[in-house]
Amino acid sequence: MIYVVSGPSGCGKSTLIRELFNRLPGLQFSVSHTTRAKRPTEIDGREYYFINREKFQEMKEAGAFLEWAMVHNELYGTSWEEIKKKKDQGDLILDIDVQGARQVKKRIEKAVFIFVIPPSYPELEKRLKERKTDSPEAISLRLKNARKEIMESDIFDYLVINGQLEKALDELRAIILSHRCLFKERQKEFKEIIRSFKSWP
Ligand code: ADP
Ligand code: 5GP
Repeated sequence: MIYVVSGPSGCGKSTLIRELFNRLPGLQFSVSHTTRAKRPTEIDGREYYFINREKFQEMKEAGAFLEWAMVHNELYGTSWEEIKKKKDQGDLILDIDVQGARQVKKRIEKAVFIFVIPPSYPELEKRLKERKTDSPEAISLRLKNARKEIMESDIFDYLVINGQLEKALDELRAIILSHRCLFKERQKEFKEIIRSFKSWP
């Protein structure tokens, strides 16, 4: 299953996803391509594939992206190659913006769409400032975009409110676990169990 996780920058998506990977086996992370500068703690190929605008344009024109968008003045995209490489290895998590989520919704109808929000606007501002990864101008832009993103969240299936981290993690985990338990998703296991019933004397 593909899970699309979106929400305003600074609401805690990366934190939630990172923690989720420690607590739930069978997950894969879709590493996006971006033209944004690498942050000191990031590793190329782990958080993102960092590329320049020319390369991004080239990939875009070659139809390499499932979706792409200009976010806070930088380009971000999910490559088909990344999806193909990882989708059969487990549940695939895409951390992408709302514009990208809309494009995925058109192309992969079956995907599950999760919107993450902070408990309030002042808390979002506080988190962005305390993260200390963006300039004051970049923070202003991210806050301005947050208002727009929240108003465009109608396509999502689930809402996770990231107030207390543990509670939000429980919510995210519950969403994925409940999808794993869907009858139609468990056909292989079900058939094996049925077979054991049939072979019983
Ligand atoms: P995003 O990936 O959505 O841009 P981050 O995961 O980078 O957001 O989180 C932004 C900042 O908020 C980080 O400094 C992170 O440690 C902090 N943070 C995330 N979740 C919570 C939470 N539930 N309570 C308090 N701070 C949080
Ligand atoms: P950041 O620069 O803080 O890592 O991410 C900024 C925003 O870009 C976040 O909202 C994140 O979800 C979004 N983003 C990251 N990768 C992609 C992608 O491949 N496509 C789209 N559309 N958005 C992305």
